[in-house]
Amino acid sequence: LRILGIETSCDETAAAVVLRHHNGQGEIAADVVLSQLDEHSAYGGVVPEIAARAHVEALDTLIKEAMRRANVSLADVDAIAATSGPGLIGGLLVGLMTGKAIARATGKPLYAINHLEGHALTARLTDGIAFPYLMLLVSGGHTQLILVRGVDDYERWGTTIDDALGEAFDKTAKLLGLPYPGGPAVEKAASSGNPDRFSFPRPLVGEARLDFSFSGLKTAVRQAATSIAPVSDQDIADICASFQKAISRTLKDRIGRGLQRFHAQFPGQAEQPALVVAGGVAANQALRQTLHDLCDSHGFRFVAPPLQLCTDNAAMIAWAGAERMAAGLKPDSLDVQPRSRWPLDASATTLLGSGK
Ligand code: ATP
Ligand code: MG
Ligand code: FE
Repeated sequence: LRILGIETSCDETAAAVVLRHHNGQGEIAADVVLSQLDEHSAYGGVVPEIAARAHVEALDTLIKEAMRRANVSLADVDAIAATSGPGLIGGLLVGLMTGKAIARATGKPLYAINHLEGHALTARLTDGIAFPYLMLLVSGGHTQLILVRGVDDYERWGTTIDDALGEAFDKTAKLLGLPYPGGPAVEKAASSGNPDRFSFPRPLVGEARLDFSFSGLKTAVRQAATSIAPVSDQDIADICASFQKAISRTLKDRIGRGLQRFHAQFPGQAEQPALVVAGGVAANQALRQTLHDLCDSHGFRFVAPPLQLCTDNAAMIAWAGAERMAAGLKPDSLDVQPRSRWPLDASATTLLGSGK
């Protein structure tokens, strides 16, 4: 199968061509991503109207560029896959309408893809891992632990009840006067800081439910920062290091419980079980190390796809389309509408905070 993928749910405009061979192996023929970081950084966050306009301006060129790099025309493509949620509605409309238009003009099937399914299945494209496995998605908009049982078969085990983890990094950075996006800035500052200077809260640690909470941490950072005046670079480094340590400890507890639950649910699996990480926060070396050690101590394999496939991209959307098609799932009707909220797990509650 050869699939054209389109991604426009947030602040990356992306197009890709991905192959799925008969043996289930994936191959990326082209993967083009245009980040809108520069357009949004002056505002300290993603501005929906600016994002939608930037998608409109860039998408056609990106699709052509992806097809040029893959050396294919629309006639060679078996299906179109476009993100239809969750995300910012303006951007989703741009990508999904473009996907529909191509599908209508070429007569090829359209797959309306859940962005989270794209993240969830990426490790099968990059590492060929088998079902079932656990996926931790940690990005600017999501913090979820998901059991991936099969294509179209997901169970959300945990989600954040307030801020997403990337959002906590971004807000903490803003509080400390560090640049946007906050994750890389906080990580850099933390590298020269003392992680034991501040004892920040570790919310929900010890609780049986697998959810996350990060807004209290942000408040504690604010209190720490305002209790010192003037704040030196060393103070900032110490706050960042202590912040990261609190997050490491929290993840260790929350994810550790998830790994135990997986063992209990799938005892005596022949293959070593895997924990897959996705989302921009996966770039953080300290958190990666925490997850790696945690996997080692629980007999799990730690799978971290290359960073450009952990953050938003269209290869994962094309791949999700390929997996759906190969699994015999029906394409979507051209009446399909984008959804700003769309939990991957149909039974998941949407009452929780930003449980998108
Ligand atoms: P989504 O809609 O999938 O949530 P997003 O654009 O919000 O998309 P990503 O692009 O996957 O998310 O990731 C961006 C987030 O990752 C930002 O919040 C950023 O601060 C965070 N991040 C990036 N690098 C690091 C790092 N080294 N450490 C911690 N966080 C990081
Ligand atoms: Mg992004
Ligand atoms: Fe994403």
